[in-house]
Amino acid sequence: MATKADEKDMRNAATPERDVESDDVVITQARSYARSPIISILVGESQVEYTAHEAVLVAKCPFFEKCFNSGMAESHSGVVELPEEDCETFDHFIEYIYGGKLNSYTGLDKDSDRVVNATMKDLALAEKFCMFDWHNLVIDRLRKVWQEGYIAPSHVSWVVDHLSETSKLYQLAMAQLAYNTVFDIDNWLTSPGNEEENDHYRRDFDILCTKEGFPVSQFIWDMVKMQKHPKEDVPDPSHQVCKFRVHSEGRICKKAKYPDKKRKREEHDH
Ligand SMILES: [Zn+2]
Repeated sequence: MATKADEKDMRNAATPERDVESDDVVITQARSYARSPIISILVGESQVEYTAHEAVLVAKCPFFEKCFNSGMAESHSGVVELPEEDCETFDHFIEYIYGGKLNSYTGLDKDSDRVVNATMKDLALAEKFCMFDWHNLVIDRLRKVWQEGYIAPSHVSWVVDHLSETSKLYQLAMAQLAYNTVFDIDNWLTSPGNEEENDHYRRDFDILCTKEGFPVSQFIWDMVKMQKHPKEDVPDPSHQVCKFRVHSEGRICKKAKYPDKKRKREEHDH
């Protein structure tokens, strides 16, 4: 979870703005990366070994920046152990720090459960590593999936089990479930042919509502508040860009887009 101190570290970390980088900066950076020591990272319980340039890790990721610049044991041994992470998520981290983009999930149906689950894990790692830029790309992808479909109670269950209520994904997931439940459930689950999906949804919804840590009363209250207004007057959480991004001090999002102009314009906090 990003703490105040982490946010400060994040600002101090050398995370250059890609679009203002001159060619000279890119070349100098590449040279410093090429001369950097190689770090060994052991991922998961089975300790799968990854190797990466220390300079890249430090420049792109505040977690590693803190790890290597604070004189922790890892900075001397050149070995970092991450037993709690899984390889698929760490692959995505490596792809992001070296490639600057999200993976494309080639060959996978983009709105399948599998992709949503993998994407939520990416987000949890971006939070843990205090990588705001990566976090924002990942949460934008999740919003897009939920713009085109509906959030499943099983996704919210994962969020409740793995993230705290200060997490942007936690806030998005709770708001999206309330919104979809209030405004979309009739069109979606009661349509002819959706009986099986309906049963599945009900079962997952029961599991979620009886889950330890799920804020049932807040959820009901959110729905009651939404229900007082016509759908057109309530912003769809999946269309609210800035609200679910993380902003470091002094930075604002590039022009936020509103794909559905009929939706109420979101409030900006900056
Ligand atoms: Zn913003």
